[in-house]
Amino acid sequence: MRFEAHRSLAEAMDRADALGSYRDCFYIPKRQDGSEEIYFCGNSLGLQPKSARNYVDEVLVAWKRMGVRGHFEGDRPWLPYHEFATEKLARLVGALPVEVAAMNSLTVNLHLLMVSFYRPTPERHKILIEEHAFPSDRYAVASQIAFHGFDPDESLIEAKARPGEATLRTEDVLELIEREGDDIALILWPGVQFYTGQAFAMAEIAEIGHRKGCVVGFDLAHAVGNLVLKLHDWNADFAVWCSYKYLNAGPGAVAGCFVHERHAERFDLPRFAGWWGHNKSTRFVMPARFSPLPGAEGWQLSNPPILSLAPLLTSLELFDQVGMDALRAKSESLTGYLETLLKECCEDRITILTPSEPSARGCQLSIRLKGNGGKMPSLGPHPLPLSQGERGGHVPLPLGEGFRVRDDKRGKKVYDALIASGITCDWREPDVIRVAPVPFYNRYTEVFDFVERLKGVIDNER
Ligand SMILES: *Cc1c(COP(=O)(O)O)cnc(C)c1O
Repeated sequence: MRFEAHRSLAEAMDRADALGSYRDCFYIPKRQDGSEEIYFCGNSLGLQPKSARNYVDEVLVAWKRMGVRGHFEGDRPWLPYHEFATEKLARLVGALPVEVAAMNSLTVNLHLLMVSFYRPTPERHKILIEEHAFPSDRYAVASQIAFHGFDPDESLIEAKARPGEATLRTEDVLELIEREGDDIALILWPGVQFYTGQAFAMAEIAEIGHRKGCVVGFDLAHAVGNLVLKLHDWNADFAVWCSYKYLNAGPGAVAGCFVHERHAERFDLPRFAGWWGHNKSTRFVMPARFSPLPGAEGWQLSNPPILSLAPLLTSLELFDQVGMDALRAKSESLTGYLETLLKECCEDRITILTPSEPSARGCQLSIRLKGNGGKMPSLGPHPLPLSQGERGGHVPLPLGEGFRVRDDKRGKKVYDALIASGITCDWREPDVIRVAPVPFYNRYTEVFDFVERLKGVIDNER
């Protein structure tokens, strides 16, 4: 098929799309001329549900009319406000209600749960993460290691891609856990890797991790609202996520956490306590002794920012209406279509880092321009300057340092030209353009238009 002919195919797919009307539930950002942007950045900040304002207004009005009584009165009193999210959140991540709580922000939750679930001993003190992990996770993990008196250079280990490969092979990750698991206290693994868009076999990682006696936690920042999750069945010990990416709950929205039911009554675990984690029936009696709530709620600290929780309730209602299965089915098709078009029109000019199997990715594709007239530089995509011998000893370097070999100016220029043409995607140093069509509000025709513009920009560059 001639590339242009895809436009009418895309239009037909939009017409046939059973979820197509949900686009109207969101505000699509506009360009200066009033036309809609092609917004492929829901992996970074999801769009605003039109209903979000009602929920925020409801809080403002309750506060205006009732003052402090708003804690107890009205349709959605603030005292149990986070509980209005619980059941929907549980369905979204495949958990029991007692296993989830909407609270804090992602990195805060990660710390709170590591306080309880990272219990290093001289024999078993390591934390396993993936190479090029999101910097906040890396900082959090390294600081926890140091907090316990261990050395991050020794105790923080990374699973690396093979030389010349951009993504990790599951078999390598499993083999690493098998080989080194006896020393590993905690495996902190992403559901979807933020940079490459690779999704992981979480059930298998949890299973082998547990077999080796490790605690297994997941960072679902890029997985929640993106993949179908079954945290309870997968037997994860804990998980954390933020709500402003695929969950569309707004900038800095209240995040979430999961603690498996089998830990719900582990009151023996050390934890950092605050009054919101305390037994509800005596919270206001304010006894001197802390008595934690069972389940994820027991890790709460403060009364939550209600204004930042309000949009999450709206957003969860939408997810609950549509269901993750339907969203995921469209997502596979939409991202698959993006991949097909990219390969058809630009295969000689770009590399897609994200795996091709639908089970190994979510919405996002990570694209890198091929250098040197279409040939990969001989060093491959990820030269491995961080390795200190094969144990993967770690030198903490800021993200992006260490793979300085590529000339990334061309990629950035292409990215800038895309932005100027009304596309919102994002650029991640040193050389990747991340593109995430989201099933809730993106269309097949947008995928086509994106690829057509990319092709135009790249052709121009020749
Ligand atoms: C987005 C993201 C974060 C963000 O952390 P906050 O605490 O919400 O600022 C952390 N980790 C990963 C992997 C992310 O993708």
